[in-house]
Amino acid sequence: MRRSIIAGNWKMNKSSAEAVEFVLDLKKKIINVDDREIVVCPPFTALSAVAKALDGTTIKLGAQNLYFQDSGAYTGEISGIMIREVGCQYVIVGHSERRNIFKETNEDVNKKILAAQKFGLIPIVCLGEKLDERESGSTFNVIEHQFLGSLKEIMDNKISKLVIAYEPVWAIGTGKTATPAQAEEIHAFIRQLLIKCYGDKAASQIRILYGGSVSPENIGELMRQINVDGVLVGGASLKADSFEKIVKF
Ligand code: PEP
Repeated sequence: MRRSIIAGNWKMNKSSAEAVEFVLDLKKKIINVDDREIVVCPPFTALSAVAKALDGTTIKLGAQNLYFQDSGAYTGEISGIMIREVGCQYVIVGHSERRNIFKETNEDVNKKILAAQKFGLIPIVCLGEKLDERESGSTFNVIEHQFLGSLKEIMDNKISKLVIAYEPVWAIGTGKTATPAQAEEIHAFIRQLLIKCYGDKAASQIRILYGGSVSPENIGELMRQINVDGVLVGGASLKADSFEKIVKF
């Protein structure tokens, strides 16, 4: 049985004070929820304050990115050990905004996954096709290429320490969610790739999240899909009320 994950990606939003206010409110709202994992991913500047505010709760902390080197002359970058030190357990890797705006390649994503795992962080590895790729019928090829490139050299004993997020780029921040059937089709395809590369047992344990305009209205149907093990939520994770409804789907 895979434990669901509901993760909020706040992107470049909320000051430390706003982030703390949010989690203090959220922890009251979801006090009795204990059958799923809840993760919040604030900006780097709020991680430390949010970690303190979450102390004593089961809500987990994630970062939105990391650099693959441990330390050194990399101005502006943050390493896995630094993220771990402030209390993160998760880190988002290869988000489409990183891939498209900051030109991260599958090779970069691969190095980041290895760096995250080295420090005991669980990477949430994002894969997803753009609109023109879906329209030209190359979704499966794109996902397979991203999967194989990003997970290169991730050994069998490390694959269970990783979460995959399928995030079709055309559905991110657009209000256009993939239909539950479209999400399930790609999640099942990713599950097959996992089986091919890591075997049935490991593949059956890995959580595959869906991301792209998830809302309180569409979460129920998405979570009914066999291979949808949770969600990565952007916009709707910024308000405690809507995130509460998604958490309690
Ligand atoms: C995201 O950025 O990971 C995301 C899924 O955003 P949104 O929910 O706003 O589409």
